[in-house]
Amino acid sequence: MQQNYDVVIIGGGVVGSAIARELSRYRLRIAVLEKESDVCTQTSGRNTGMLHAGFLYKTGTLKAICAVEGNQEFDQVAAELDIPFKRTGKLIVGFTDEDRQRLENFKARGEANGVKGLEIIDRKRMDELDPSAGGNFAMWCPASGILDPFLYTIALAENAVHNGVEYHLNCAFTGETRQADGTHLLHTTQGDVSTRWVVNSAGLNSAVVSEQLGIPGYVIKPVKGEYFVLDKLAGQYAKIPVYPAPNPDNTFDTHATPTVDGNVLVGPDSQLARDFQDYESTQAAMDGLIESGSRMFKHMDRSYFIRNFAGIRPKRIDPETGVVQDFVLECRDEVPGVVNLVGIESPGLTSALPLARRAVALIAQREVLTPNPNFDPVRHGIRRFADMSDEERAQAIAENPDYGEIYCRCEKVTRAEILQAIHNPLGVHTVNGVKVRTRATMGRCQGGYCETRITEALHQELGEAFARIDLGPQGSWMFTGSVKGGDQA
Ligand SMILES: Cc1cc2nc3c(=O)[nH]c(=O)nc-3n(C[C@H](O)[C@H](O)[C@H](O)COP(=O)(O)OP(=O)(O)OC[C@H]3O[C@@H](n4cnc5c(N)ncnc54)[C@H](O)[C@@H]3O)c2cc1C
Repeated sequence: MQQNYDVVIIGGGVVGSAIARELSRYRLRIAVLEKESDVCTQTSGRNTGMLHAGFLYKTGTLKAICAVEGNQEFDQVAAELDIPFKRTGKLIVGFTDEDRQRLENFKARGEANGVKGLEIIDRKRMDELDPSAGGNFAMWCPASGILDPFLYTIALAENAVHNGVEYHLNCAFTGETRQADGTHLLHTTQGDVSTRWVVNSAGLNSAVVSEQLGIPGYVIKPVKGEYFVLDKLAGQYAKIPVYPAPNPDNTFDTHATPTVDGNVLVGPDSQLARDFQDYESTQAAMDGLIESGSRMFKHMDRSYFIRNFAGIRPKRIDPETGVVQDFVLECRDEVPGVVNLVGIESPGLTSALPLARRAVALIAQREVLTPNPNFDPVRHGIRRFADMSDEERAQAIAENPDYGEIYCRCEKVTRAEILQAIHNPLGVHTVNGVKVRTRATMGRCQGGYCETRITEALHQELGEAFARIDLGPQGSWMFTGSVKGGDQA
């Protein structure tokens, strides 16, 4: 690792990666420290993937302002970063008079926040939009959309790397020492680095890192949300995300959301997590999802369930009242050289770039930033065989015969895509790294056919011993050795 940087970002989730990309518009030496083996393993890879419109959040808050801004710019962002995105709109459905009143309130709040096109509609109009949606009436929000949160985070990080940012994976920040000249000596699991600026975008760990950097006092409550992933067979019925009318505390119960790839997510519910790593799926939560999900989506059939997962919301609360607070984005004069982001829960995915621009502005208010004349906002993703027409497939195979060999049958992922994913710009070398870049293992068989073939490709391409290839986190080996005297390679 290089020893001196202008800016070091702690945490390479969607927010840290957006900040890295925005900072790379300037002539700065920038590094991102990420404790995990990839950029989207924590909250940024464990969410609904909704591009929120911004009607839920109190007018004037950072949550409201950044959600509206992030929503409005996303067509251009998705085009620049070559990521899948659909502006599907969203139905927020109601059943009772009380629900109707709440929807009217949120329509008024949304309009005050600058959300365009909100309408209260009846069942007849709902049937025209999406007959599979539950509810007697709804608020229609045409601005909402869906995106792939893995690919969005990866694309931001890859574009940052393309523009000169260094990513250090499996590298945890453990503490800092202020040096005599006021710069920071950051201690990490890969040694010490020196930097003029440090950005805290450590997600669930943001309150701890804030304290380590000299800003104590923030309290984060981990609130878990569990999901069912439904097969693409269910996806044929789900055209539009369907949410229930918000609760009195402005949270949503279980919703049903189509994904950009044609699956359906049912969830998340909401429960206090045991701790910040409590990602296990529980039977009680699954039973609850089936019951509440069926109210939103009429095709909740157990035969469609292919996987479950959980995410944890880093909710910043007032320690005295327990009331949930706005995002923190600050740079305090008494703690110079620190940009601090705390409590970036939903709508953090939607808000990542607006937050990033504001983080850069805090630095720009304190020193002159020189534009990077070579900054290139464009990133190219892996071309997907599954999305090609027959003619395009024939041409792709003619140009690269690896496009003619299917590795993942369920998702029609070819060897060519697997190889591009293995040689990704971030240097992620895990099976899950290939999964989130290609969708291999994400289909109905959940990797039964392709997981070992991906492992073999990692072994062949990188020369890594089988027993050293990880599924995801460091030490999550695919194999611990061989049986029957097989090859130990
Ligand atoms: C159930 C659920 C549903 C959601 N749905 C949506 C949605 O539909 N739309 C939306 O806009 N938002 C949604 N959100 C919110 C959104 O996912 C988050 O706001 C966003 O992902 C936060 O990104 P982040 O980069 O701050 O956090 P993270 O993705 O958690 O990234 C922080 C990174 O910091 C790293 N890190 C932590 N400590 C250290 C350290 N000491 N050293 C080095 N690295 C460290 C972590 O490993 C992690 O990768 C949802 C969240 C949840 C939980």
